[in-house]
Amino acid sequence: MKKALINIDYTNDFVADNGALTCGEPGQKIELEIVNVTKQFIENNDFVVFAIDIHNLNDEFHPETALYPPHNLSGTAGRNLYGLLQATYNKHKDQKNVYWLDKTRYSAFAGTDLDIKLKEREITELHLVGVCTDICILHTAVDAYNKGYKIVIHEKAVASFNQQGHQWALQHFTGSLNAKVL
Ligand code: ZN
Repeated sequence: MKKALINIDYTNDFVADNGALTCGEPGQKIELEIVNVTKQFIENNDFVVFAIDIHNLNDEFHPETALYPPHNLSGTAGRNLYGLLQATYNKHKDQKNVYWLDKTRYSAFAGTDLDIKLKEREITELHLVGVCTDICILHTAVDAYNKGYKIVIHEKAVASFNQQGHQWALQHFTGSLNAKVL
């Protein structure tokens, strides 16, 4: 079975103390685990996708404009990967198995070529890491489930600003999406 790592939204805006929409400490605590899992997948020559939110300032047509302050704006440092993950990406970004994917919605599948990239490579199992457990990880997992992928969630490499939401999502992954939570 071929697998891929989907590395979701681990950017300064979502993780750093001064991030525009930060998870704060829970997000910062998973830095080393997310870097370790990412390195393992890259070194194992598995497909590694960095699925990263992108927005334009004051986009009147985007539903998130009414919900959140501006975040992950195109071309800003807030959209850089947080901490050691940026260096990990920089070191390996030219490898064939590393793919940067701009996404504009919670799910990495919404309006992107992710499904096509996975199908081309005959990948059937998706491993998810990043933030937030109960928003972008959850919506990506739901789409993955509906498209027939097996799902693995790395519990020590996902986080949320909302601990209740985080816990609820973890049980939803196993109880309703038949995911493995490691
Ligand atoms: Zn967003």
